[in-house]
Amino acid sequence: MTSTAISVQARKRIALVAHDNEKANLLEWAIEHRELLATHDLLATGTTGKMMAENLDLPVERLRSGPLGGDQQIGARIVDGLVDVLLFFWDPLEPQPHDPDVRALLRIAVVWNIPVACNRSSADFLASSPLLTMVYNRRISEHVSL
Ligand code: PGA
Repeated sequence: MTSTAISVQARKRIALVAHDNEKANLLEWAIEHRELLATHDLLATGTTGKMMAENLDLPVERLRSGPLGGDQQIGARIVDGLVDVLLFFWDPLEPQPHDPDVRALLRIAVVWNIPVACNRSSADFLASSPLLTMVYNRRISEHVSL
């Protein structure tokens, strides 16, 4: 398959989203990795972003709340090349009113070959990757880049 590369800067744009039952989990993880997060740019859905900004004392761009379109806004940012990493702690045990948006966000992240962590151990692996703080050539299918 032919592909082309998008150059991703060392300073990443990290999108954070957590469903209500997963918010404490993501927050705990973020506090553990605050120093690392401080070296990147953060954006988040509404409630997740408020929680992060207050508890981490870091700037976080806040979009709409997930059920009100925040997931779709993050998806649009991915399409526009404005998100480099997605931490998406979705709730595997409860249906959400915006399940179609959740699915759409996960799908578009795969389309654009964005690294995604959906649980804490994946987020640990991502955080410990040297690629997180290096320039990286993200390969995307030529069909996608058209
Ligand atoms: P929230 O949205 O951060 O506004 O709670 C997250 C979601 O439910 O997708």
